[in-house]
Amino acid sequence: MERQSLAEFLEQSARAVVFTGAGVSTESGIPDFRSPGGIWTRMKPIMFQDYMASEDIRAEAWRRKFAMEREFSAAKPNDGHKAIAAMVSRGEVSHVITQNIDNLHQDSGVPAEKVIELHGNATYALCLDCGRRYDLGAIRESFAQSGKPPYCVACDGIVKTGTVSFGQPMPEGEMRRAEEAVLGCDLFLAVGSSLQVYPAAGFPLMAKRQGACLVIVNREETDMDCVADLVIHDEIGETLRPFL
Ligand code: NAD
Ligand code: ZN
Repeated sequence: MERQSLAEFLEQSARAVVFTGAGVSTESGIPDFRSPGGIWTRMKPIMFQDYMASEDIRAEAWRRKFAMEREFSAAKPNDGHKAIAAMVSRGEVSHVITQNIDNLHQDSGVPAEKVIELHGNATYALCLDCGRRYDLGAIRESFAQSGKPPYCVACDGIVKTGTVSFGQPMPEGEMRRAEEAVLGCDLFLAVGSSLQVYPAAGFPLMAKRQGACLVIVNREETDMDCVADLVIHDEIGETLRPFL
């Protein structure tokens, strides 16, 4: 029997979910973690506990953040993001669950309520105590002047980018929304993820267990290729362009 194509899987699905990793944003110029030249080959991530324990480490985290921002703030959605946005707007995909923190799914036109951000968002900062939201521009200015990491004006709590660091608890609400979306889906399309970072990487298995089809688009092999119904080892933009 001829293997079903991605188009056929989408056609036969009533409730698809897309799950993305750093690979969907490399064509926008943001490096992933695990490819050669990826962020991890250049610097060690700062653990949440260390961020909380030391003002010097918080200052280092903000220095890195603003240095990276110069490089990445100009990033624009690529054809992969746009094709996924088109699938959402045609009603083929109910949710986009992402490990990315770059806001490019929202920038490509996916309504914010359909994007589930498992690892938060790097385009703003939050007080870790009261949840007050901060613009990065104001923090950048005061950091440039004082060299001190920011504290909350309302409660004096520690302020951190809206991302989930290693060692930091996963956001409960987003995990619950992701679980609901996965339990209700009949097709799980994983795009540009090495599927190595847990608990996020548990979602494709959860989808399979409850009877959904699993399709993986990734240039390299993943540990879950063997359980997938279709694996496409190719570039994301090229693979998804027909769905624009
Ligand atoms: P990962 O780096 O572990 O894996 C990315 C995968 O995408 C790799 O297997 C790579 O082969 C593949 N890939 C890269 N570019 C591709 C392309 N153009 N076409 C096809 N495949 C391509 O990423 P992950 O699984 O998302 O896990 C890493 C963690 O890093 C996540 O927790 C995420 O929060 C964080 N992260 C986010 C960003 C971002 O927001 N853009 C960037 C780097 C890291
Ligand atoms: Zn506060």
